[in-house]
Amino acid sequence: MSVTRSDFAALWLETARLNGIAGADALTDALCVIWERLRDATLNVTSIRDPAGVAVAHFADSLTVAPCIPDGARVLDVGCGGGFPTLPLAAARPDITVTALDSTAKKLDFVAETARAAGLDNVTTLCGRAEETARLPDHRERYDFVVARAVAALPVLAELCIPFVRRGGLFAAMKSRGADEELALSASIVAELGAALDSRVPLTLEYPPDAEGAAPAPADRDIILFCKLTPTPARYPRAYGAIKKASQPRK
Ligand code: SAH
Repeated sequence: MSVTRSDFAALWLETARLNGIAGADALTDALCVIWERLRDATLNVTSIRDPAGVAVAHFADSLTVAPCIPDGARVLDVGCGGGFPTLPLAAARPDITVTALDSTAKKLDFVAETARAAGLDNVTTLCGRAEETARLPDHRERYDFVVARAVAALPVLAELCIPFVRRGGLFAAMKSRGADEELALSASIVAELGAALDSRVPLTLEYPPDAEGAAPAPADRDIILFCKLTPTPARYPRAYGAIKKASQPRK
């Protein structure tokens, strides 16, 4: 049975209440448009498409990073896929502009059309591989805030993302809880790239119960924030194969 817009609106508001998301009412119309487009998408833009999964794992999770973003920031979402966190962030923060980067053009078509349908005029899409795009003068060290979710392990992700951050800007890695090993393995490359660990924001996302009163276990998440201190040396980012190889722990 297809979940209608008003069913989804109720589910979203319950999700927001459970997770203490401020200003959720004002986001309902835009999020319902995004929900309908995900529900009806023929292209496999994301593996999570059930209503509660979309409300919690896509919408509420994407919004957890909103309070970390400075006013009026120029934001880059590296590996945005079907538009997360790009779309919910753009809806919640009309003061920011979000550039959604992905290497798959079809996903970006979905993101651009969905942004248009939801009335989000602060989203731009950019097609390319992060490690190549970060070498272009229009994008290197040009963003106040760079975010990535579910793209790569931290030692790889840092090299894909930190070159885009301007000095004094932030990189936010949205991770599942338990990223300590990844974080330890990324320490030397983060320093090499001109950044340093800023802080970690632990979060727990609650799922609303279904009609039988059952709900999936809460999801523990971490936002790991890095600040950019000095320019990234010109040799970074390397080609993807070299980044991957260098990220493997030495035997
Ligand atoms: N951030 C989204 C999508 C995660 S899937 C979410 O959380 O739902 C990972 C996405 O990253 C895919 O769409 C893939 O095309 C993209 N991606 C992976 N490596 C990339 C790279 N080096 N440059 C650009 N995009 C990349």
